Amino acid sequence: MPDAVEKAWSDVVAAARRTVADGLVVGTSGNVSARVGDVVVVTPTGVPYDRLRPQDAVAVDLEGRQVAGELAPTSELPLHLAVYRATDARAIVHTHAPHATAVSTLVDVVPPVHYVTASLGGPVRVAPYALYGTPALAEAALAALRDRTACLMANHGTLAYGTSLDQAYERTAQLEWLCRVWLLSSAAGAPRLLPPADLAAAAASLSTYGQP
Ligand code: 13P
Ligand code: ZN
Repeated sequence: MPDAVEKAWSDVVAAARRTVADGLVVGTSGNVSARVGDVVVVTPTGVPYDRLRPQDAVAVDLEGRQVAGELAPTSELPLHLAVYRATDARAIVHTHAPHATAVSTLVDVVPPVHYVTASLGGPVRVAPYALYGTPALAEAALAALRDRTACLMANHGTLAYGTSLDQAYERTAQLEWLCRVWLLSSAAGAPRLLPPADLAAAAASLSTYGQP
């Protein structure tokens, strides 16, 4: 197996384990992938992440044909492949993070209660419900992702992508946090929402946020 695929597998497994450790999923829920050229390294379906060994790497091409591994890929392969085909994504994280999943049952767009909304491309949409693993879910999620790097899937969970696994994971964690803040503030009262101009200013500032 090429070194880059081996490295991607180790990163994918580490990120998947972290989703469990961080309470973003329970058991074998969720899935993680990373793209290396035209190969997509993915978590297998229904296998506890702590059981995955270096030799268990699962990889498919962009049409979903398995190019490495014995374990069957995630049931959400149509979703991951749809995002890779349509965007510049190099990594994808899908979770059933509890606050985000709760919010996915309540609204069609995550109310912009915090400027972190801007780091996800704007107010995060909720894709209409479709059965997990189906092309219908992939299509709904892709539409919800237009001009965004994350979405919720109704009564299901989160989806976020990035140009690296760290970035996709960070976006997932920020989205879960944002949903938690909205649940807290809306339980206590009627939260003030940020208008588009404030989100645009935050987006501009965030584009140079952090160390040069
Ligand atoms: P897999 O175990 O097939 O990745 O499915 C988990 C999941 O979250 C489906 O939406
Ligand atoms: Zn799921």
